[in-house]
Amino acid sequence: MIQVQTSAAMAALRAMESVVGARHVFSTDEDRRDYSDHFAPDEMERLHEPSGAVAPATVEEIQAIVRIANENKVPLWPISRGKNFGYGGPAPVLKGSIVLDLSRMKKIEVDPAGGTVLVEPGVSFFDLYDYRQQRNLPFWISVPGNSWGSVAGNALDRGVGYTPYGDHAARICGLEVVLPDGDIVRTGMGAISQGPTWQLYKTGFGPGWDTMFCQSNLGIVTKLGLWLMPEPEAVLGLNIDADKPEDLKWLVDVLGPLRKAGILQQSPSIGNWLRAAATMTTRQEWAEPGNPLSDAAVQAIRDKFQIGWWGVALRVYGPLEIAEPTLGLIRKAFDKQPVWKMAETRWVRGDPPEGSPATGVPVTYPLANANWFGGRGGHISFSPVLPVDGDLALRYFRRNSELHAQFGFDYHPSFAIQDRSMNNINQLLFDQDNPQMVENLDKLFRTLVREAAADGYAEYRTHVGYMDVVADTFDFNNHALRRLNERVKDALDPNGILAPGKSGIWPASARGGRP
Ligand SMILES: Cc1cc2nc3c(=O)[nH]c(=O)nc-3n(C[C@H](O)[C@H](O)[C@H](O)COP(=O)(O)OP(=O)(O)OC[C@H]3O[C@@H](n4cnc5c(N)ncnc54)[C@H](O)[C@@H]3O)c2cc1C
Repeated sequence: MIQVQTSAAMAALRAMESVVGARHVFSTDEDRRDYSDHFAPDEMERLHEPSGAVAPATVEEIQAIVRIANENKVPLWPISRGKNFGYGGPAPVLKGSIVLDLSRMKKIEVDPAGGTVLVEPGVSFFDLYDYRQQRNLPFWISVPGNSWGSVAGNALDRGVGYTPYGDHAARICGLEVVLPDGDIVRTGMGAISQGPTWQLYKTGFGPGWDTMFCQSNLGIVTKLGLWLMPEPEAVLGLNIDADKPEDLKWLVDVLGPLRKAGILQQSPSIGNWLRAAATMTTRQEWAEPGNPLSDAAVQAIRDKFQIGWWGVALRVYGPLEIAEPTLGLIRKAFDKQPVWKMAETRWVRGDPPEGSPATGVPVTYPLANANWFGGRGGHISFSPVLPVDGDLALRYFRRNSELHAQFGFDYHPSFAIQDRSMNNINQLLFDQDNPQMVENLDKLFRTLVREAAADGYAEYRTHVGYMDVVADTFDFNNHALRRLNERVKDALDPNGILAPGKSGIWPASARGGRP
């Protein structure tokens, strides 16, 4: 197994002090713990513990750090704000890497005429929201369920939000990137010096490179352009609850065609009762630790919080002349279905904000779900991409429920209906202080990956501890995609200094150690 030499990492960190100042280099035991994954069990956390971290403030400082990393052959793991909870937080794949913490870089440049923004990596969703509010800009941002993180970091990890601009990577328009040899490149129209169309037109001339830097280890993104959603005149909605587990089938089958036709502009996410309950209560209020949660307890939770077995929020954006009839069409699509509860929502420009991610307002309350089992909470996510099909959703829900029960977990799934696919996001909630649960977590995760792969399905994003396991499932033509990734990696990063192992892509020097 490949290892980072502690002495080389320490020498590199000392050299980096001369670039950023000693107060921006972090190498104590406490610092190493801070830059580890607090949502993972202790053992996994240690497997991904960095040697330390360095926090530059400028592109020139990043270039100097890259030079030192190359000289010392020590890997860097770039993070924007490092709040990638569920997928590893700030922690690297390879133990001993140096975390390159870009959270001090916080410049925001909005082009009001174009409706775009250029952000540095440290800009959080709250920063961008405040910037918009203070200037009363007529644009909305799209935020994830955990909005504590970075606008750039989330988009680079192909994160999602809940407005029509919720596919964050798809709204990227132009990057500035420091390559592993220290060169700086601007993608798309940014390749023209002083060009004013960098954030307006995505691909530029010739090959388009923006997606090459998403979920990859080929460059350090120092600026990211993003399209902003013009503030709509109105947002009308339906909050729909269904009463029984099997209602998932018709929910998917009604929503899929509406999304594909573009009648629904955002990707609605159908979540079960636990998704709602885990942010409002803890398990110990309803069951003895170690005992299964009875049907009666689930019913009592639902009664107390008035939540369905499944719930989904649908929103329509635009002028009232379009939004009202569109909402009517959507309501009609549910006419023949056994809807348990349907509540209308209405926001018109000038009203106080609805206050949810569906209207681009940042939130952190979903993070409370880590407390569900008690002890030191945590979760990792298992998120396979599936075709949009109600029968399939139900089959996955049933099988995964059984697997969760078999390994002693409560099942926390959601099904996000996208243009042509369905993202089944399962949060494996656990108690880090329960050794049996910690042991079973790995078994459950690997079983979920294996069973999905047997059906031809794989994850869109995964935890740093499982990047090889998931990359292995992309196996066409003897893993031709991995071989292509590796050839590009070797060409751009011959010393393998940038995020070795990210997305299962290892540099030549470390390939022999791939688990
Ligand atoms: C309860 C809960 C709910 C969540 N809900 C959502 C949700 O709705 N949608 C969603 O998308 N996520 C969600 N998440 C996952 C995660 O918390 C967010 O995606 C968060 O925004 C990621 O952290 P970050 O933005 O700070 O990115 P970072 O952690 O900074 O970056 C993410 C990854 O991208 C790469 N990267 C970052 N910056 C750079 C750079 N400058 N150059 C090169 N590579 C870089 C790194 O490999 C890094 O590991 C949720 C998590 C929890 C716990």
